[in-house]
Amino acid sequence: MKILVINCGSSSLKYQLIDMTKEDALAKGLVERIGIDGSILTQKANDEKYVIEQPMKDHQDAIKLVLAALIDEKHGVIKDMSEISAVGHRVVHGGEKYATSVLIDDEVMKSLEECVKLAPLHNPPNIIGINACKALMPNTPMVAVFDTAFHQTIPEHAYIYPIPYELYKKYAVRKYGFHGTSHRYVSMKAAELMGKDVKDLKIITCHLGNGASICAVEGGKSVDTSMGFTPLEGIAMGTRSGNIDPAIIAFLMKELNISIDEVNDMLNKKSGVYGISGVSSDFRDIEEAAEKGEHRAQLALDIFHNRVKRFVGAYAALMGGVDCIVFTAGLGENSALSRAEICKGLEFLGFNIDEKKNNEGRGFAKEISTTDSKVKVYVIPTEEELMIARDTKEIVGK
Ligand code: ADP
Repeated sequence: MKILVINCGSSSLKYQLIDMTKEDALAKGLVERIGIDGSILTQKANDEKYVIEQPMKDHQDAIKLVLAALIDEKHGVIKDMSEISAVGHRVVHGGEKYATSVLIDDEVMKSLEECVKLAPLHNPPNIIGINACKALMPNTPMVAVFDTAFHQTIPEHAYIYPIPYELYKKYAVRKYGFHGTSHRYVSMKAAELMGKDVKDLKIITCHLGNGASICAVEGGKSVDTSMGFTPLEGIAMGTRSGNIDPAIIAFLMKELNISIDEVNDMLNKKSGVYGISGVSSDFRDIEEAAEKGEHRAQLALDIFHNRVKRFVGAYAALMGGVDCIVFTAGLGENSALSRAEICKGLEFLGFNIDEKKNNEGRGFAKEISTTDSKVKVYVIPTEEELMIARDTKEIVGK
């Protein structure tokens, strides 16, 4: 069974064609600049790179080209579109309705539309991608896999905000959490590496990329996560502030005489480690600047590590202990420095990192704790696309 996984952004689209017999990615691709000048598709398959540069006015054009690239005689990996058994779509927001992945039908499409007001930037391109695929592959079953679904097990006392309760009832203002597919994948993988049933484990997963979130996974279920109503809550990120005193927003609006949209823009795009360091949102640049002795770059790293550590401590307390911690995503998988800084001082909880293991090799799952560390520490590359394909296979197979 071959499954096409689609992750649609506003002007880009990532895709993978996965052969589920061995869970092999036959082709991986990225389409950029959809609807703007310089549209380009880059596909990696059969150890070669295939690039198509041609105008793509919308997502349907882009998906048409993806299918053409996949069946291309010279560079493709399948002979015919009919070899694609199903399509799995990444959808950011499923609201309170979807606690698991779901087969897409008209009712699901209606619900996705209803979630647009909760994720105005993300759900519209996801919906456009699904509609474009449906138009080109009307008989192929499609599945929606939500970033929010895994966190629907968070208990009421953790997802309700301490603001007037009616706002939850009337406007669905509550914690939803994101990166769910990644937290679910790496927590399952950690259990597998430990040789234990995920049901018996207390796991803290740290998805540290440009966007970043931490999750407490108890018995295989998300019981709390750092992102909230939107992906702005939680730890400081590349350009997002994470948690700040909410009174700062009103203060800045008054002092700077700026609009709510401008504050929103500041907190989402000009804050985080970028705002603090003034260097970059990329941790590689910040680490480099800090090494050269730039104070604000070092400060940005210190603030970031401190904030991650606070969540780790909070979640250990919440679950009454922790068996393992997982680092994943761009920074989590690649920065030995960040992993070491976050775990430093947590020896009292049973965290002990082996410096050599932490520093050697990347790109594969590995344990980086000492053999006698009470808490196992893992680096696990996230595989959201594979998780989407697995869900799609399971649902379509039913
Ligand atoms: P997203 O999917 O949210 O865009 P990624 O998971 O791709 O983010 O992570 C991107 C981030 O990972 C980059 O901003 C960069 O800061 C960080 N990163 C990648 N490689 C390294 C590295 N070798 N050292 C430190 N940070 C890294």
